[in-house]
Amino acid sequence: MASIQTTAGGMPVLILKEGTKESKGKEAQRNNFTAAKLIAEIVKTSLGPRGMDKMLVDTLGDVTITNDGATILKEMDVQHPAAKMMVEVAKSVDNEVGDGTTSSVVFAGALLEKAEELVNKDVHPSVIVDGYSAAAEQALKLVQKIAVKIDPTDKELLIKIAKTSMDSKLVSDDSPILSQIVVDATRQVAEKAEDGTLKVDLDNIKVEKKAGGSIRDTKLIKGVVLDKEVVHAGMPKRVEGAKIALVNSALEIEKTEMSAEIRINDPQQMQMFLDEENKMLKSMVDKIKSSGANVVLCQKGIDDIAQHYLSKAGILAVRRVKESDLFKLGKATGARIVNNLDDLTSKDLGSAELVEERKVETDKWVFIEGCKNPKAVSILIRGGSQRVVDEADRSIHDALMVTKDVLEKPLIVAGGGAPEAYIANELRQWASSQEGRAQLAVMKFADALDSIPLTLAENTGMDPIDTMTELRSKQSKGAKWTGIDCRNATVTDMYKQNVLEPLAVKEQVIKSATEAACMILRIDDVIASSKSKMPAGPPGGGGGMGGMGGMGGMDME
Ligand code: ADP
Ligand code: MG
Repeated sequence: MASIQTTAGGMPVLILKEGTKESKGKEAQRNNFTAAKLIAEIVKTSLGPRGMDKMLVDTLGDVTITNDGATILKEMDVQHPAAKMMVEVAKSVDNEVGDGTTSSVVFAGALLEKAEELVNKDVHPSVIVDGYSAAAEQALKLVQKIAVKIDPTDKELLIKIAKTSMDSKLVSDDSPILSQIVVDATRQVAEKAEDGTLKVDLDNIKVEKKAGGSIRDTKLIKGVVLDKEVVHAGMPKRVEGAKIALVNSALEIEKTEMSAEIRINDPQQMQMFLDEENKMLKSMVDKIKSSGANVVLCQKGIDDIAQHYLSKAGILAVRRVKESDLFKLGKATGARIVNNLDDLTSKDLGSAELVEERKVETDKWVFIEGCKNPKAVSILIRGGSQRVVDEADRSIHDALMVTKDVLEKPLIVAGGGAPEAYIANELRQWASSQEGRAQLAVMKFADALDSIPLTLAENTGMDPIDTMTELRSKQSKGAKWTGIDCRNATVTDMYKQNVLEPLAVKEQVIKSATEAACMILRIDDVIASSKSKMPAGPPGGGGGMGGMGGMGGMDME
């Protein structure tokens, strides 16, 4: 048995560094269960449309108000290793499908809570892991069975799905407007892959936010918003029928790599030198002019003299545009990004109905909009305060992700805990087909799934026992879309209530939560190396175990 210290012929043998902490067996498991369950406890009250928000204050005093599971956990700075694994669950769900982060943590917490009950009855964790894995596999089959295939071009339906993901957020009052924007944006950038399916790259949707106004002022821009101003006061601030050149080299005279010194003793020489520079810059601008461009968006700098010539030519220019924005501009306007001005021709130019510098609160931003069939668009989020726009941003992210999920995989289920209740019901019957103690684990898995409708009911202020019995009885009569309607505090058909979610989210929640719970269940030994710089004692010297006080269940033999 691996242990920190063992004895050989009466001599203690140190295997690990002094100060290392170890906890083993039931003790280690119990610690991990407790930490993981605590994390679930924290986010639990934020689940669903009636969930509460969390106010997170960081060390600098910055405040974040959110209801988003992934954000809550990210901001929390969790220390315990098992708790960290729960944070990972939320992160992985967020990356994969974007929504369902709170659900996955609540479910993983419930899985561990139920597992602990079995462990206390001396069921071996590996039996539970087997039972859970089998149950998860069956659960996926069940949810896939009831999923409804949809038409990805059905805009109204997509809006309902986007709206469901936003209805559990701070911005739910404005979700009708926002969901429309989100669906329009996602459909606009969706591209057909070779196999006929749709692919959405959300990088092509630029989300800019600015506190001020109200959420209702949030807009979809068929083009790109740049948080930069027009570079020179003499340039036009508004160009209709824009012909846009995207340049990723500097409109400046290149400085040499080496430091060089030019000695001039004649003032005339000096003038010649400056004239030459001037001529070079002018010829750059001439090249742009002759291509027919009336807007230049440059990734690098633009020299003062070049600015002067550009403004004389009536060209609107913006400098130091981010590379990623230049890329989006290419997709939105159809322009080709040019490296070398010598290559610039009219064919490389993109077009937009309007390029205009506008004041957004105190800043001046350039809007490139009215692009024809743009493959990149922008969403400009507005809202009463920085905290509101930040939370709106996170909610829009979730909604964009679920819309992407269903466009790419057009299968949906109802929400409100309906699929969870349905799977739990079916799993309980299926459990009897399982042999031995794994059956117990499958039953517990079903109980853990019930934590989703149960938590939704609790957060809505409904009586948990009455609600769950009504839900189970309706489910067992075959009403598979029965769930918790949090808006009206009733148990009803959630599909008819238009509370709709992507199948992909439910699948990911089941997978990630089960994986994390099983991983935590398998751990029976936690060895934490010490960071302390204690001087190493004499070899085999005692006293080095001082740091282990309070670590119960230590196996010192
Ligand atoms: P998550 O991070 O897991 O998405 P949310 O706070 O967004 O957490 O809550 C999602 C849960 O709320 C899902 O189970 C979803 O079906 C449910 N839900 C959303 N809108 C409603 C509604 N109007 N009535 C009942 N349940 C809803
Ligand atoms: Mg959600």
